[in-house]
Amino acid sequence: MTIRIRSGLCAALSAALCSTLLSVGVNAAPAANVTATRLTNAEREPAQWMTYGGTYSEQRFSPLKKINDANIGQLGLQWFADYETNQNQHGSPLYIDGVLYVSTARNVVHAFDAKTGKQLWKYNPVIQGERLRYNLGLVNRGIAAWNGKIIMGTLDARLVAIDAKTGKEAWSTDTVPASLGMGDMGNRYSITMAPRVAKGKVFVGGSGGEFGVRGWIAAFDAETGKQAWRFWTVPGDPAKGFESPKLAEAAKSWVGEWWKTGGGGTVWDAAVYDPVTDLLYFGTGNATPWNARARDEKIVDNLFTASIVAVKPDTGEYVWHYQEVPGDSWDYDAVSPMMTADLMLGGSKKHVLLQPSKNGFFYVLEAATGKLLSADPFTEVNWSTGIDLKTGRPIEVPGSRYETEPWNLAPGVQGGHSWHPNAFSPQTGFVYIPAWEAYFTMAGQAPGARPANGGFSLGISMGTRVDPDKLKPYARTGVRGRLKAWDPVSRKVVWETEAFANGGPTSGVLATAGNLVFMGNGGGKQLTAYHAATGAKLWNYDAQTAVFAAPISYEINGVQYIAASVGGAAQGGYFAPTYARMLVFAVGGKAVLPKQEPYTPPQLNPPVSTASAELIEHGGRVYTQHCSVCHGANGLQARTSFPNLTVSALLHVQEGFDYVVRQGARADKGMGSFAKELTAEDSAAVRAYLISRANALKLAAAPAPVVPRQETGHADN
Ligand code: CA
Repeated sequence: MTIRIRSGLCAALSAALCSTLLSVGVNAAPAANVTATRLTNAEREPAQWMTYGGTYSEQRFSPLKKINDANIGQLGLQWFADYETNQNQHGSPLYIDGVLYVSTARNVVHAFDAKTGKQLWKYNPVIQGERLRYNLGLVNRGIAAWNGKIIMGTLDARLVAIDAKTGKEAWSTDTVPASLGMGDMGNRYSITMAPRVAKGKVFVGGSGGEFGVRGWIAAFDAETGKQAWRFWTVPGDPAKGFESPKLAEAAKSWVGEWWKTGGGGTVWDAAVYDPVTDLLYFGTGNATPWNARARDEKIVDNLFTASIVAVKPDTGEYVWHYQEVPGDSWDYDAVSPMMTADLMLGGSKKHVLLQPSKNGFFYVLEAATGKLLSADPFTEVNWSTGIDLKTGRPIEVPGSRYETEPWNLAPGVQGGHSWHPNAFSPQTGFVYIPAWEAYFTMAGQAPGARPANGGFSLGISMGTRVDPDKLKPYARTGVRGRLKAWDPVSRKVVWETEAFANGGPTSGVLATAGNLVFMGNGGGKQLTAYHAATGAKLWNYDAQTAVFAAPISYEINGVQYIAASVGGAAQGGYFAPTYARMLVFAVGGKAVLPKQEPYTPPQLNPPVSTASAELIEHGGRVYTQHCSVCHGANGLQARTSFPNLTVSALLHVQEGFDYVVRQGARADKGMGSFAKELTAEDSAAVRAYLISRANALKLAAAPAPVVPRQETGHADN
């Protein structure tokens, strides 16, 4: 592999960096030598995609235009590479010096020769089972590159650095070590967001708001993984003292004993380092539990939940915050992807931070101060009539807090826009939003009911059925996704596509200088290119599977490529093929995907149930406590992400069952050993319970196997 130095690039870089690049030499292995200088000047290297959002501005705009609105009809598949996974793919790739890096589900990372698709290495970590239980999908949204290392957060809340040449682990840091004194709460975090890297530090936050944890973002030394600082987004137990005066101040916006359920405010997606202001901005999640009334009788602001916060990247010191949703009751995380841009507002150029938020409003903040400049609905909103620009607070619609009656919320908890990345084109001046019209019926839990500490912590009654004629403000369901072009200056939608006919959600978005916007269709399995100025549909590709992740673009030897990591959890159950792959397109590409073969799911074929009723009952208790989160209540598979155990061949042999359950034989697929939690007797009881369940299902001639619901790719946590 050759490291190419473009003319003029060395002039823009430090002498030390250029000598590093040159020393790599012709035909040396690629090294992902991304450093502060190179990242800060990423605009000068349009052929690369070195950071999650393309550049530090996170505009996801590629200045490449060899693929454009004139030749898009000739865009074809250049190469593809299959993944070994049965999960949703949310990871946005990186392209650096000839190599395409991508994180796939369950933290498997692939490095491909970006021209040919040849796999250079694969990193497949073992994930701790006790932490894997606390997440809403085995997803990962992306990686960071720094000085020869690829850096990723894991589902068991570690931060790992992988040698970009070899794929071997360089360092691994537990981001929530026991020394933090969180006890069991420390095991309920995961990391799904892409780490960001700047000034030699990696910034990452922990997910888990729905499981009752305390939100944080922390910085780690990119060379060693050693923690530099941690910013807690909500105050902890006052009896233990607050970590900073700012948190003591924030504690005044809480009542009750919030620290017992963690408080929430998790940092699980958006983070932007801004070289212009030298600030790090990040979004925080909803307060825990969802329902403000379940937190306390009194509704208070709960800082810094559902907020955008700016800190100094070197120290983590607080600089400013803007709270989008004080006292949130609607799961309105403020974590949706953000970007910086320079806009002409009111006759002067302003450096701003932009966020189309989950709550349905498009926010424009002054980047240096956090001052709210505008906030307008970009999709259907029925909880607020607008944002008061003087106070920055939403004007709430009476009844929308579902205190006395259920409320059919828009946007629902799925969000008017979730984690799927947006794009901004400096050419058109539009922000391209993968926007949803989403509905969800919110209903308070029974009076006096308290959310469980440590469980799935929402404080609402799920699945409440209300006569549609009586539902306020109207009864609608589901999610309809479409692409919208939003003008942040005139504060309105300029064009929008039809909503997807299948009602499915969207993928992330890529905008290019070739007058193109690329977006995928989660349910419809399509990748589509639209005209950036008009929204006209110009090109379409049948991806054979759901498209959730945002595509990227790169260039090698004058050829532009579009890369999309595709894949949705198998609709036919865990063992069905998902067709999860890396797809890379170029003008004139002629590669063809293999034809999809008909698939027959495994049938119920259990051994005869001979165990005692006591053993089966004990097995049921153990199963419910340890297995049902992933494998489904009563042995019925709840999600396509995990195997349906009633059809498992392992039911026939206890040794084989134990080999997986107690010896961790499938740890590489995310099923860690349960030897610490389950004795050999427990494991035998669980098997007996599953055999009993499988026989009952077979006898009842239940549809076999149960067809699980299709994953939507929310993984909102
Ligand atoms: Ca949430």
